[in-house]
Amino acid sequence: MYVTLLGTGSGIPQPDRAQSSLLIRDEDLLLIDCGAGALFRLGELGLSPLEIETVLLTHLHLDHVADLLPLAKARYLLGRPWLSVFGPAGTEQLVRSLQSLYPYLHSIRLEVTEIEAGCRFELCGFSVQSASAVHSVPALCYRIEGSSIITCSGDTEPNADVSELAAGSDLLVHECSFPDGFDVTNHTTPSALGQLVRDVCEILLTHFYPQCRGLEDEMARTVEQLSGIRTRAGRDLMRIPLRSE
Ligand SMILES: [Zn+2]
Ligand SMILES: [Zn+2]
Repeated sequence: MYVTLLGTGSGIPQPDRAQSSLLIRDEDLLLIDCGAGALFRLGELGLSPLEIETVLLTHLHLDHVADLLPLAKARYLLGRPWLSVFGPAGTEQLVRSLQSLYPYLHSIRLEVTEIEAGCRFELCGFSVQSASAVHSVPALCYRIEGSSIITCSGDTEPNADVSELAAGSDLLVHECSFPDGFDVTNHTTPSALGQLVRDVCEILLTHFYPQCRGLEDEMARTVEQLSGIRTRAGRDLMRIPLRSE
């Protein structure tokens, strides 16, 4: 089982960071979020859009969903006009609204399942558990269990629910939008994260704003020193094998 980071950026463009997206592979593939650039990164990995049948969304901000319809359209052009989309409340309305803008894409079958916090469900061979994130819109974090356990924070302030959900994970992929010294809400800084997280094997930081440029490794060191947990700064196309490999 492994994770590949497709996009480690946020809403403001950076030359080497696409917007939020990551791919989890065990027996099957599961895409978490699908921000702008995710489709291009899949191409760089040599993966066809046909291999992505399911997308799990943490929330509906544009930097997490911008490539969703392009992914569905690519599958349509390649002869498989369907895609399953799982996400928080509002996902159904978002998907139908997007599709309504492009009448020629109406024949694509977009199956939407809305998820609440505190749910457990099976998806692409994984067992998934959801919890509430703390963000400016309804947002979820996910614990994904296959042969290993990965928890993805999505966008959030560091909070006890995410930390609790992550307990026992092999890998916690957590957003770290700004360096220390920025007064932020709805997002995470290294010290806040390092003081909160316990009981995971490794932390990977993602969702960097341009203010983090050049400071990413230092941010990871801060989290590592405070938490005592191995921490690395994510880069696009970074592939992280987990213990089963
Ligand atoms: Zn975001
Ligand atoms: Zn967001």
